[in-house]
Amino acid sequence: MHDPLASLLRPGQPLDRRTFAAYGAVLGAIPLLGRGDPVRRVRSFESDPFTMGVASGDPDATSVVLWTRLAPRPFEPGGGMRDDSVAVAWEVAEDEAMTKVVRRGDARASAKLGHSVHVEVAGLLPDRWYWFRFTAGDAQSPVGCTRTLPAPDADAAAMLFAVTSCQNWEQGLFTAYEQMAKDEPDFVFHLGDYIYEYAAGRNGKVRTHHGAEIQSVDDYRMRYAQYRSDPLLQRMHARCPWFVTWDDHEVDNNYADDVSEQKDVDPRDFLLRRANAYQVYYEVMPLRVRSLPRGPKLQLYRQASFGRLAELLVLDTRQYRTDQPNGDRRSPLNSATLDKRNTLLGGAQRVWLKQALAESRATWNVLAQQVMMGMVGSMRKEEKVPHYSMDQWPGYAHERVELVRFLAERRIANPVVLTGDIHSNWCNELRVDDLQPDTPVIATEFVATSLSSGGNGSDKPRDHDTLLAANPGVKFHNRQRGYIRCAVTPKTWTSDYVVMDKVEQPGGVASVRAKCTVEAGSPQVHVS
Ligand code: FE
Ligand code: CA
Repeated sequence: MHDPLASLLRPGQPLDRRTFAAYGAVLGAIPLLGRGDPVRRVRSFESDPFTMGVASGDPDATSVVLWTRLAPRPFEPGGGMRDDSVAVAWEVAEDEAMTKVVRRGDARASAKLGHSVHVEVAGLLPDRWYWFRFTAGDAQSPVGCTRTLPAPDADAAAMLFAVTSCQNWEQGLFTAYEQMAKDEPDFVFHLGDYIYEYAAGRNGKVRTHHGAEIQSVDDYRMRYAQYRSDPLLQRMHARCPWFVTWDDHEVDNNYADDVSEQKDVDPRDFLLRRANAYQVYYEVMPLRVRSLPRGPKLQLYRQASFGRLAELLVLDTRQYRTDQPNGDRRSPLNSATLDKRNTLLGGAQRVWLKQALAESRATWNVLAQQVMMGMVGSMRKEEKVPHYSMDQWPGYAHERVELVRFLAERRIANPVVLTGDIHSNWCNELRVDDLQPDTPVIATEFVATSLSSGGNGSDKPRDHDTLLAANPGVKFHNRQRGYIRCAVTPKTWTSDYVVMDKVEQPGGVASVRAKCTVEAGSPQVHVS
């Protein structure tokens, strides 16, 4: 596996100023938590410090992460806070009125982490809803709602969750979160492109980013603050726990490990930017302390068990990947795509994933990840053979085929792949080789469209019929905005493709465009 630290600290390399700075970022990250710094008790704030609301995430059967951030002036560097750590009290209750408090404590909002607060509350009961809030001085946060998962050996009867991704601020409104809140899911998967890094106006359709393309810690903080200022997004975070993972735009479009989209950027400079982006990602997301970044490294792949019903495996296909083959241009499945050295997962994550799958006793095995696994090719006018996206699994075809073959040979129960990134809805049957329609279907892939990226979109794109005819694994495809709502029982998995009639104007209306069903024991999809 390519180790970004190794490239920073190559023996014999002269320690120029740039390398030294990168090295400093790596080492400097370790005391990020600010443990041991004095903590100030604030009596009152000039204005509400809870402008970014509350969130929760990464639940297991007895614990969950509670999140908030103190930022009275969220669009300024420093968020309107002084440069020291502040005490924040937290409470967890069994009721929304916060009268039956079962856990409480004091946490630190450290200036080093943008005055964010991450509390890992332990000792909770499995499969329960809880309410929580924070207090700092005389300021109190909104009340959030969260839950624990069923015990790992419990026979959970049902789970309901939403899959979302790609919420470009400039290209559309987040109206779909209104419907998602009404669905009352147990949890949300966010599969990346939570923010976009571009300069103001670059994608301007309905509203405008603040400032230039983001690079520094302050830039990333203010960009997340802008996104999180959306009341519908903020409210959805307060409704239920989220499992978040990133794709590319949390750092830089189509980056791969230490390689920027702009090929003239020195990987060492890019790693400094990546360290900024990763630090702020940790700050603003309800992640466990195991995900605390160390310079340009952040452990994001992880697993959770929803009883025996489902094993949830959250992947990171950006941090460890090799550079896209064929210069990241749409290409045929040539020898560069089949190179065994290409990897999306990296060695350590691949070993972990296979072990987690092999040990799982769950009915459904869920891979929550970023880029499309279905090998979907398309031909433009002058092209004689199908061309594929090199940023997606086809660019890493060897690893992709090997992974699906592993699912087949090890008889992994009911594998389901959840995907974002591509700004369109797809439901795919996955085979070891998707180009061989007479071979068995091994897994099912539900690709969720963007929440807002790309604007209103369209129901039936012009190339729809040719695409489906050329790619027999594709069972449904549409290019409207929205999200997927999954209802899962030990017998049946149902994915509702929720679409919005518009996102470029307020008042968008949600409807279910397609219902894709899979029965446990058979990965074939039924579309209605
Ligand atoms: Fe996107
Ligand atoms: Ca993406």
